[in-house]
Amino acid sequence: MQTWNQLYRTLAMVNILWWCVRLSKYAQECSALSVVDADVTVVGSGPGGYVAAIKAAQLGFKTVCVEKNATLGGTCLNVGCIPSKALLNNSYLYHLAHGKDFENRGIEIKEISLNLEKMMAQKSGAVKALTGGIAHLFKQNKVTHVNGFGTLTGKNQVTARTADGEQVINTKNILIATGSEVTPFPGIEIDEKTIVSSTGALSLEKVPEELIVIGAGVIGVELGSVWHRLGSNVTAVEFLGHVGGMGIDMEISKNFQRILQKQGMKFKLGTKVMGATKRPDGKIDVAVEAAAGGKNEMLTCDVLLVCIGRRPYTHNLGLENVGIELDNRGRIPVTNRFQTKVPSIYAIGDVVAGPMLAHKAEDEGIICVEGMAGGAVHIDYNCVPSVIYTHPEVAWVGKNEEQLKEESVPYKIGKFPFAANSRAKTNADTDGMVKILSHKETDRMLGAHILGSVSGTRKSSLINKRF
Ligand SMILES: Cc1cc2nc3c(=O)[nH]c(=O)nc-3n(C[C@H](O)[C@H](O)[C@H](O)COP(=O)(O)OP(=O)(O)OC[C@H]3O[C@@H](n4cnc5c(N)ncnc54)[C@H](O)[C@@H]3O)c2cc1C
Repeated sequence: MQTWNQLYRTLAMVNILWWCVRLSKYAQECSALSVVDADVTVVGSGPGGYVAAIKAAQLGFKTVCVEKNATLGGTCLNVGCIPSKALLNNSYLYHLAHGKDFENRGIEIKEISLNLEKMMAQKSGAVKALTGGIAHLFKQNKVTHVNGFGTLTGKNQVTARTADGEQVINTKNILIATGSEVTPFPGIEIDEKTIVSSTGALSLEKVPEELIVIGAGVIGVELGSVWHRLGSNVTAVEFLGHVGGMGIDMEISKNFQRILQKQGMKFKLGTKVMGATKRPDGKIDVAVEAAAGGKNEMLTCDVLLVCIGRRPYTHNLGLENVGIELDNRGRIPVTNRFQTKVPSIYAIGDVVAGPMLAHKAEDEGIICVEGMAGGAVHIDYNCVPSVIYTHPEVAWVGKNEEQLKEESVPYKIGKFPFAANSRAKTNADTDGMVKILSHKETDRMLGAHILGSVSGTRKSSLINKRF
């Protein structure tokens, strides 16, 4: 009798447990907004992600794009390429009109003043129109946009945390395009008011009297020159011995630095920042030291711009759920088909190796989804151009002289200064040069470097010639 009772109780317990499991599963399903099926789910809507999503939909894939931010377009459209280029253009026009340039051309304008609020509004208007444009393109191409934080919850599943709950997307393929974030400077806390990253530097409420930029790479010199043109005294402190970041040809870099210095920007190269302290009067003391050691100095500014680079962004992405590990620089390792070690999961753009550039992310996005559809996958990274949108601009593609030397490639140099170019002369815009590197025996073009007005536009004709 005792045994029958025990058996009955055990069965009842099993029954209760079974119902508990079913109820908890039911509760989980109810807390999800809905369960969606897709062929391709793109996480991130920057230039890599949104372009890939549109291409995937055009190729006939049922496509979902999950974006955590309220607006589409990622770093590039919201706090990167687009707002910086708007400010670069408008600050340049102000500089022409305000300085001696217009006057020297016989254009006299009295009472020039800066309306910074309006300049910022024009920038924000451009950003709003372009990010809204992506939302429109998503609709037109039937890409389902999910506004939420995407986490990989399986090799074929993404769960998006949205304002209304969770949305589960069961998907044949996942494309990670989560991009990058500002690299913090250890010990310097960014408040985006007086100690700013590139994001804060795009929205300062007034022109700082003294601006110190940590890092004279591409973004540092672009944003430094924006505020210099608007009236700031700008000093860029750079650990390396040159301006313009990685990949720039040293001869071009030296000329570029000379021109920027002539314009009034100051550089402290081969110098490291040791720390920054906010003073009670609101100013910031920045301690610097020669990179080789020794000489210390204290600099003071109203705004400190920390611009030491960007790092891949994979925070809370759930890579551990699918067994994907990052490389030593925090990037997602991929094959030349942009496939991770999990065949159904791909990654492109700033979150993988290679230059952190919008057009590189776009190309990878398109080619990656074409590959999913059975197409060929190939990018020649030697043909990915770089541009610094200062005045004069710097643009290059292919190898620089230092790289050719290091690789022991025999080369010859063709150079031409804009000072001897009739168009540059008539425009009174003669700063800079063109430098072409070609193979000594075959004459094949190996690298093209332009320092000059609208170099960024000129470089495409050079790429078409050979690259
Ligand atoms: C000031 C500045 C100026 C620049 N200027 C230029 C330029 O002139 N030319 C150029 O080529 N490049 C420029 N860049 C670099 C360019 O912005 C990046 O290379 C480009 O945006 C990378 O694209 P991406 O799609 O890989 O990533 P991002 O543009 O970084 O987009 C990633 C997106 O993923 C979203 N996301 C991340 N994690 C999740 C998640 N778990 N769930 C949902 N969404 C997620 C993010 O919110 C973001 O919207 C500039 C950058 C900066 C900061």
